[in-house]
Amino acid sequence: MKNPIADVLIVGAGPVGLTAAVVLEQLGHEVVIVDRQAEGANTSRAAVVHPRTLEILEPYGVVPALVARGVHTPTFTIRDRDRLLMAVPFSALPTAYPYTLMISQAETEKFLLDRLTELGGKVTRPATVTGIAQDPDTVTATLSEGEPIRARYLLAADGMHSLAREQSGIRFTGGSYAESFTLADVRLTGGVPTDEVILYFSPAGLVVVAPLPDGRYRIVATVDEAPHNPDIAFVQRLLDERGPRTRPAVVEEVVWGSRFRVHHRIADVFRHGRVLLAGDAGHVHSPAGGQGMNLGIEDAVTAATTLSRVLAGEPETLLDDYADARRRAAEAVVSLAGRLTDLATASARVRPMRNTVMALAGKVPAVRNRLAWRLSGLDRR
Ligand SMILES: Cc1cc2nc3c(=O)[nH]c(=O)nc-3n(C[C@H](O)[C@H](O)[C@H](O)COP(=O)(O)OP(=O)(O)OC[C@H]3O[C@@H](n4cnc5c(N)ncnc54)[C@H](O)[C@@H]3O)c2cc1C
Repeated sequence: MKNPIADVLIVGAGPVGLTAAVVLEQLGHEVVIVDRQAEGANTSRAAVVHPRTLEILEPYGVVPALVARGVHTPTFTIRDRDRLLMAVPFSALPTAYPYTLMISQAETEKFLLDRLTELGGKVTRPATVTGIAQDPDTVTATLSEGEPIRARYLLAADGMHSLAREQSGIRFTGGSYAESFTLADVRLTGGVPTDEVILYFSPAGLVVVAPLPDGRYRIVATVDEAPHNPDIAFVQRLLDERGPRTRPAVVEEVVWGSRFRVHHRIADVFRHGRVLLAGDAGHVHSPAGGQGMNLGIEDAVTAATTLSRVLAGEPETLLDDYADARRRAAEAVVSLAGRLTDLATASARVRPMRNTVMALAGKVPAVRNRLAWRLSGLDRR
């Protein structure tokens, strides 16, 4: 670091911290980004990148690599076994990216890190922030490894259990869902299209099947108790009970699997003095609709461009505007994901009725288009 006081200290080098670092580096600021992990995570996790995310990343040199690597899925469908209930068309959206881009989070992070390196930046790791203190002009983070770091502003991109949020006294209010989610990246043969994200709303429960690069598919399902490591037999049973019937899907291999419980929480405020929150530090919700990482990347670009303007002498009230706007965006997304989750996890008793209503709604073009705008993030332009 050339200057002993950095412009911005970013805590956390997940997709959100890395995005903010790329934007700030490109805008010519002195950025320090730290992460407590010795290496970046190599697990798949969030697999959906929406059109709006690609639009806002466009000026920062990562989109060509993402678009070249990911699978372009122009349609998102809801099915009850073989019966189509609703087709949500992304292909008609007025954007240069009229599709959902399917790519593992590890690869998204790799492309962001490559771009950061190209711009001359790097992640300092392992470096665990253990405390944060603010004075009128700076913020200082103490680390368990090495010297404290001082900066004009701190961006908390340190995830759901954010220390920066806790140390700033910001509450993270909400609750948790009872269901657990099973997650598996698999190789499949049989009757699953390669250009569609499919939500099977079957009478036996939900299963999502979505294509990933290299001929893999992402499977997500709600179950009472998800196994730690879903195996072939487990995923096959889910698809047999909930997936396509006429041309069944056959699981050849489970490449990666995990499970998670879902919380829905939003930080009460997104700014405390010189600390701004972004990504999972500010909001967590169900993966229904694949919104989490996308919203976080939007937070990151907005936070970084706003900080850049304030560092260039514009009023600090811009930071309050950031905090208010991103909290409102989080409320809207948490509510959309909540409604989709309630639909997806409806009790067995109401599932037939739900599917009838869904099929009727699916015949109304305005309903399908509205859903495409909301899921793609284009309604937040
Ligand atoms: C199993 C799993 C599956 C998921 N599936 C989906 C999905 O299908 N769709 C979806 O949209 N989202 C999904 N998510 C959520 C998605 O991964 C997150 O929304 C996304 O990672 C948020 O990015 P982030 O950068 O805000 O936080 P994170 O990715 O959590 O990154 C935070 C970083 O901060 C670092 N850190 C934390 N504390 C400190 C500290 N004190 N000092 C220094 N560094 C620190 C951590 O090491 C970490 O690298 C999934 C998550 C998991 C775990």
